[in-house]
Amino acid sequence: MDSLRRMDIKYLKGIGPKRAELLDKNLGIKTYYDLLHHFPTGYVDRTSVYRIADFSGEMPTVQTRGRFVSFSEHGEGAKLRLVGLFSDGSGMMEVVWFKRIKAIKQAYHTGQEYIVFGKPTQFNGRWSVVHPEVDTPGSQAVTDGFRGVYPLTEQLRNRGFSARTIAQAVSQVISSIQRFNETLPADIIARYRLMGLHDAIRAIHNPANNDELQRARFRLKFEELFYLQLNIRRYARRRSEAVTGFRFPRIGHFFNTFYKEFLPFELTGAQKRVIKEIRADMGSGRQMNRLLQGDVGSGKTLVALLCMLIALDNDTQACLMAPTEILATQHFETLTSLVAAMGVNVRLLTGSTGKKQRDIIHRELEDGSLHILVGTHAVIEDNVRFRNLGLVIIDEQHRFGVAQRARLWKKNIIAPHVLVMTATPIPRTLAMTVYGDLSVSVIDELPPGRKPVVTLLRYDENRFATYQGIGRQLRAGRQVYIVYPLVHENEKLELRSLEEGYESICETFRDYTVAFVHGQMKPAEKDYQMSLFASGKAQILVATTVIEVGVNVPNATTMLIENAERFGLSQLHQLRGRVGRGGGQSYCILMTKRKIAADTRKRLELMTSTTDGFAIAEADLHMRGPGDIEGTMQSGVALDLHIANLATDGQIIQLARDSADYILDTDPSFTLPGHEMLETQLRLLSSRQQDWSRIS
Ligand code: ADP
Ligand code: MG
Repeated sequence: MDSLRRMDIKYLKGIGPKRAELLDKNLGIKTYYDLLHHFPTGYVDRTSVYRIADFSGEMPTVQTRGRFVSFSEHGEGAKLRLVGLFSDGSGMMEVVWFKRIKAIKQAYHTGQEYIVFGKPTQFNGRWSVVHPEVDTPGSQAVTDGFRGVYPLTEQLRNRGFSARTIAQAVSQVISSIQRFNETLPADIIARYRLMGLHDAIRAIHNPANNDELQRARFRLKFEELFYLQLNIRRYARRRSEAVTGFRFPRIGHFFNTFYKEFLPFELTGAQKRVIKEIRADMGSGRQMNRLLQGDVGSGKTLVALLCMLIALDNDTQACLMAPTEILATQHFETLTSLVAAMGVNVRLLTGSTGKKQRDIIHRELEDGSLHILVGTHAVIEDNVRFRNLGLVIIDEQHRFGVAQRARLWKKNIIAPHVLVMTATPIPRTLAMTVYGDLSVSVIDELPPGRKPVVTLLRYDENRFATYQGIGRQLRAGRQVYIVYPLVHENEKLELRSLEEGYESICETFRDYTVAFVHGQMKPAEKDYQMSLFASGKAQILVATTVIEVGVNVPNATTMLIENAERFGLSQLHQLRGRVGRGGGQSYCILMTKRKIAADTRKRLELMTSTTDGFAIAEADLHMRGPGDIEGTMQSGVALDLHIANLATDGQIIQLARDSADYILDTDPSFTLPGHEMLETQLRLLSSRQQDWSRIS
């Protein structure tokens, strides 16, 4: 396979330098290797011949056999077209060309037998086929079996390329090669009864039948995922071997005192379980790199605190990092209220912390009297130095880049343990790939007494009734969020609709105080408005998605989301998580216009039918593909997959991961016979993709 990466496609018959350049520009195909890995997106059946008399409404591309009766030109100039009348004895159809008319007229003749291959459509009571492929019987194309359909660009089409051009180039390459060097170890191939590479490449382009096609696809997907997993898993192992971690053997004063005297509620079973998992990690002497997934409201903060107390019990400091100032402040307040009384020193460091306070923080961090530092990105600045940082917790991880995580590590000689918390449920298959190097803990249980949020889909014409419902909640002493989609926080137009919305809400609910936040406000103003709502002085909060992350106001029981159709599933789920945090019945109203696209309606209806974050994330993955899922873009991992699909190939991912682990368990340095290619393949992969060693 290696030499194929150096063979230029311009040497192929029928390609040449000009066409090669076009293929490179349009499809990124430069070499034989690229060409072979330009897999078909579909297949056409060239095994049967249809009679024109049997053509029917919804036929895909079909072939028929007969003769041209006549050719004639119609229209003129740009509208000129060539029409060939084609008969197969059972009926008559028109074959139409709009381009390359001169060449076509020279190539085909009346009276001679041809196989015409195209998609029949009915026009004025007669079948016609536009720009078909035309072959003479006995030519190779006719006995082809299933042939690949390759996506082409407009430019390629205009320059005379067809799926056939590609197919022919591919078959030239394949027949020029005796045998492709296998790229998977023989023991793996045997273990999963995989198709060999040579057969798989041939079959993916030109399968004899569906069964062969499926086996070829499986093999190629497996290979792609296997090397991805091998890379991540090997990296994770190497790191855990190379990096010394703190060993936290003790559960001591801080943890015990808090647990006995200050714990505000009994922990849920899931909270207890994940704390155990985290403790085991932190006690192992290896650096912990763990992802804590827990749906909104599942109580991650309390878990974070208990883990930080373990760090304190082992004479180290802890740091909790949040993506926004609002959230950091809220964490700071929560933690302070929980542990200040027992003498834990907690401080807040954000972009707006003044110099005086900053100086105190720097001093206390370095002399060790500061136990827990809570903050935003500000905590990773170089002048923030700890005496002995033992645990870093990152909340809502997806907003932090990989590089930023790495900077935190470097704050200590012994790498601190890292716990990444996320409320964006990541489907397992995706987590295995994107966060393949992290261990995963899941809080899969909500604190008791929570009633699932009732979610309703409402249209503009229901607005009056909706406002009445909101009024009832307000009269009962509850608070209400009203959310506007300010997707791009700097768009003037959207900002205006938000401001108008705010004014109309103030008008409608005159007896109540309305707070107002959006991303373009100054932090101080934002904080002031938020605190109005958090303290209960304001009963309504009109906001953009700045409230999406983490904000906790248990008395808020209703959320109205305007233009709900403009939000993604995960985002709606995050927003909805702001309500239903207290004991009372909560509501989330998705407001939209009556006319919405079918898939949008499907999305919104899913929201009304479930509150299970994992089910929603799974659906999101299926509907949008992994590239768009929040979290994957920022994760720093380019999921540049050729053939595998993270949404639908979960089982293959699992197999690939198992076999990667099997290899690493049995032959970690790839020295067994037949394993030599592993290193080469990994090198090729990382030169094509990303530098995994930089991912922390
Ligand atoms: P999230 O996982 O979304 O960060 P929080 O940590 O903010 O969730 O917790 C949500 C709410 O649940 C908070 O008000 C918190 O005090 C409460 N909570 C956490 N753990 C428990 C528990 N074990 N029992 C009852 N309430 C809890
Ligand atoms: Mg939280």
